[in-house]
Amino acid sequence: MKTGKSKNLYSKALSLMPGGVNSPVRAFKAVNSNPLFIAKASGSKIWDVDGNKFIDYVMSWGPLILGHSHPEVISAVKNALKNGTSYGAPTEIEVKMAELIKKMIPSIELVRMVNSGTEATMSAIRLARAYTGKKKIIKFEGCYHGHADSFLVKAGSGATTLGIPSSPGVPNELASLTLNAKFNDIESVQKLVDENKNEIACIIVEPVPGNMGVVLPKDDFLKKLREICDRENIVLIFDEVITGFRLAPGGAQELFGVKPDLTTLGKIIGGGFPVGAYGGKKEIMQLVAPSGPVYQAGTLSGNPIAMTAGYTTLKILYEKRKTIYKQLDSKAKYLAERFREIADKNGVKVRVNQIGSMMTIFFSDGEVYDYESALKSDTKKFAKFFNLMLKNGVYLPPSQFEAMFLSTAHTEQDIEKTIKAFEKAIKALLS
Ligand SMILES: *Cc1c(COP(=O)(O)O)cnc(C)c1O
Repeated sequence: MKTGKSKNLYSKALSLMPGGVNSPVRAFKAVNSNPLFIAKASGSKIWDVDGNKFIDYVMSWGPLILGHSHPEVISAVKNALKNGTSYGAPTEIEVKMAELIKKMIPSIELVRMVNSGTEATMSAIRLARAYTGKKKIIKFEGCYHGHADSFLVKAGSGATTLGIPSSPGVPNELASLTLNAKFNDIESVQKLVDENKNEIACIIVEPVPGNMGVVLPKDDFLKKLREICDRENIVLIFDEVITGFRLAPGGAQELFGVKPDLTTLGKIIGGGFPVGAYGGKKEIMQLVAPSGPVYQAGTLSGNPIAMTAGYTTLKILYEKRKTIYKQLDSKAKYLAERFREIADKNGVKVRVNQIGSMMTIFFSDGEVYDYESALKSDTKKFAKFFNLMLKNGVYLPPSQFEAMFLSTAHTEQDIEKTIKAFEKAIKALLS
């Protein structure tokens, strides 16, 4: 595999940007390698600047559920561009977008568009604090909610990958208001609630965590969270930045039948552009300015180009909802089963967690159901595996603690090629 051009760009980038990148995990540090610089992408494929072609399972870290450069999305964006790029004034597409979001996720009665998942979650906890008049928040070890100060306490995603789950620069005074419970352990939540009686403003959770690798909620874990919140007057926030529009048209809350008070969205909602959103119960959301006193604003919020890409994506998902989600799940299920089978046959210990179009191959011989069990994975083995897969034409997330994403653009042929690459990689791991 030729990598000369990527190497040159990377060495230049290192002198210009911290770590040579604009978001940490992209630097390939956790897989002892150098990042590939990408030139273009289409459907399920991605090409780097040296002309190497890969089947892509990163899909921009989740947004591209319809694949790269989806023709309808591209053409809608091109059309929208003819009318300008941004006005800083209300537009029709924002109204259409809000209507569609509400239709797909009925727990959202009012919605506010922002520019990233980070903005959505940080605004949601501000709102929950204002609504309840309480200060503390409960999150879960290994869950990632973006990089706002309050969340960088035992955070997942890049923070876990790089071993800096709690960041310097976050004042202790603020960090002390963030309490960490264990995912899938309802007693750990109840204990924190009891110890901090009438002080918890909200519980924020990835209903299906994707940022410690994919972890599934057990039995009625989410229902029990709902019960605790109802009992204790706590706002329940589902961070569906990954799972929204991915696990079902209405996200994880539809799949598991649990209604949060607030939902945060990102990734798919922008169709490949920078978009986030938060929304939920009218009674809470109407506290947001200008209808209420909780301040939050954005120069480019509801940007017409980004709204067009997002709206076009959601509309396709909504119109094809009866088939798309089943197809994605059966494709992913098949892939996961073959991975398990091949690893097993070769005596390599893996745990493949899969739900809908998201999955993680953990190099672990135990069940992975929370942060602690995820951290038991063999990250050195994962790094070798990652590089072998890359050599065999498959581009995976460069970390053990991230989710692989399938899209509607992944063909049967892609899946079979990926399985062959996996078999080769697993055999090479043994030698
Ligand atoms: C990606 C992610 C975020 C942050 O979104 P950005 O757009 O990267 O700021 C928040 N929550 C979850 C669950 C995410 O996966």
